[in-house]
Amino acid sequence: MDHFAISTIHPGNWQRLLRFQTGVSKKMANISLLPAVQAFMARRHGQFIDGNATADSATATIEVVNPSSKEVITAVHQASDADVEQAVKSAHDAFKGTWHATSPARRGELLNRLADLMQENREELAQIESLCSGKLIGLSRAFEIDYSIAFLRYYAGWATKIQGRTMSLSLPSAQGEQYTGFTLRQPLGVVAGIVPWNFSVMIAVWKFGSALACGCTAVIKPSEFTPLTMLRVAELAIEAGIPAGVLNVVNGNGRTVGPALIAHPMVSKVTFTGSVPTGTGVGVAAMQAGLKHVTLELGGKNPAGFLRDFPVDKTVDGIIEAAYLHQGEVCASAERFYIHRSRIDDVMEALPKKLSAMRIGNALDESANFGPLANRTHFEKILSVFSKAKQEGGDFIYGGTAADEAGFFVKPTAVLAHSQADTIMTEETFGPVASFLAYDDHEEMLQYMNDSRFGLTASVWTNDLSHALRLVPQVEAGTVWVNMHNYIDPAMPFGGVKSSGIGREFGEAFIEHFTELKSVIIRY
Ligand code: NAD
Repeated sequence: MDHFAISTIHPGNWQRLLRFQTGVSKKMANISLLPAVQAFMARRHGQFIDGNATADSATATIEVVNPSSKEVITAVHQASDADVEQAVKSAHDAFKGTWHATSPARRGELLNRLADLMQENREELAQIESLCSGKLIGLSRAFEIDYSIAFLRYYAGWATKIQGRTMSLSLPSAQGEQYTGFTLRQPLGVVAGIVPWNFSVMIAVWKFGSALACGCTAVIKPSEFTPLTMLRVAELAIEAGIPAGVLNVVNGNGRTVGPALIAHPMVSKVTFTGSVPTGTGVGVAAMQAGLKHVTLELGGKNPAGFLRDFPVDKTVDGIIEAAYLHQGEVCASAERFYIHRSRIDDVMEALPKKLSAMRIGNALDESANFGPLANRTHFEKILSVFSKAKQEGGDFIYGGTAADEAGFFVKPTAVLAHSQADTIMTEETFGPVASFLAYDDHEEMLQYMNDSRFGLTASVWTNDLSHALRLVPQVEAGTVWVNMHNYIDPAMPFGGVKSSGIGREFGEAFIEHFTELKSVIIRY
């Protein structure tokens, strides 16, 4: 029994997850890998197409590296053009055939059955995820897998509730004829879901769960750094009874496999989660490939503003909650912190004590509460963020170095910036790097918060709820939290404003992005 087990999402559970970052665990050392995980890792990996795991030995392989040890643990055959073609065709056939013939109630049942199987195989999925992403095992279980299950069940519930409307029409009637009108919400077709490495299952579920609930079929492309766990989820989908071809997985790098999927004429929609530069290119490619539907969930440089009344100890807890979950590799995490000038020295003195109490350890060590970065590219990027901040004269309050040569470890880091123009205040790090700036009045704080080309999330922290509610509409972000950060729920739409994206996932809003609205008018 692990101490992060949760079965439903509610704020209390979320608090437990976040306390994970500083909580003292009584557990010791590494867990043992399940025999099922060892067997899975020993297999040859590639794609999951039309209900079958395939691995064409003629195609190039991508090495999968364990971020906790830097060791190559397996390799995955990259999808060839023929694999992409077959995956899209099988999704298209399923869309026109078996999935089209499956009632909404049955679609919901099948998604729930997949959620049941993910629950039954939770430990296996969590271990595979931790091995290739460096995610601490407690987070893999209680966040990656349990939240994926909760999201799947949420989408399953919507399958029977996708509706059009009837309209009162006002067309002129010359000879007594009448008109009635209604709208149909129809599935778009084959959805290509392109996924980053930070939550390889949960973000894929946001894409294929929405798609399948609406009657679409899906081809998922995981990140080349985390290609494994979705392959196992796709097998469970078949075991759940989801027909072959409804959910396919193709692996490979972004330069070849991603563009091939976007350009394929049978793909009707692209849903992409990743960085702003890649997402911008994906959006352009989707338009050029025939004005495809596209949703983009991109990066940010999310601000957190602590009002003058907010106590120092709670501010420090808030910073830990907002900045360091999963080593900061959370798109919603805050990276820019604005603290009133009268409080900044006290906060800068108290924060290092909390950061130094974090136990850095490998992803399968249940006693660790701060793991490695997810891959070498990201590790090197974060080291270059540190050097740039040093060059620009940032005052390192804590961290700023690699932590352990055994894996891609860095220390949780806090930097007092010189000005809002410092690179560390403007560019997304996507790592455990919180940067701070003092402000003098609340107008200045709001100005700083909005002074960014991004707008994914933000938080304001104060005991004055009336002040908070006046600020919320003025903050330029898709999600604004008050006295909390990083909490997501399937019922709350999620997405960015400005350069952080287009469209919303979760909540009822997803239906609009996976269905086409058809107007029907009848004369009688
Ligand atoms: P990335 O943009 O490098 O890659 C994302 C995916 O796109 C990968 O699967 C990659 O192979 C693929 N890809 C790369 N080039 C492509 C191309 N030309 N055409 C099609 N696909 C291509 O992002 P990453 O490094 O994997 O993830 C980190 C980024 O993701 C951060 O910026 C983070 O903020 C963002 N993110 C956003 C959200 C959100 O919901 N808004 C969630 C998680 C991560």
